[in-house]
Amino acid sequence: MSLKIELINNLGKIKAINTIRAKARALCNKYPNICMNCGYNKHVEVCHIHPISLFPMDAAIDEINDLSNLVLLCPNCHWELDNLDLQIHTNIKLKYYLRH
Ligand SMILES: [Zn+2]
Repeated sequence: MSLKIELINNLGKIKAINTIRAKARALCNKYPNICMNCGYNKHVEVCHIHPISLFPMDAAIDEINDLSNLVLLCPNCHWELDNLDLQIHTNIKLKYYLRH
């Protein structure tokens, strides 16, 4: 399913983005609840390295939520990713995290 189709089906961008985020969270259930950047383990968020808003409208949700585009970060590291261009090393992307 594409972002565009999700927007049409849900009649709203916020609902579509919430659906994409919920699907991303579901993909993260098997990963440890720790920040993959700093190790904080009280609260983590699923983060899209390439932001949802920058994908084209016809992007597939599976492409947006590909494990190479997801990382678990604490709120501080998530803020740095979104605002200070925190660099995400390949080995902490979900796609590669459990291989070490
Ligand atoms: Zn952190």
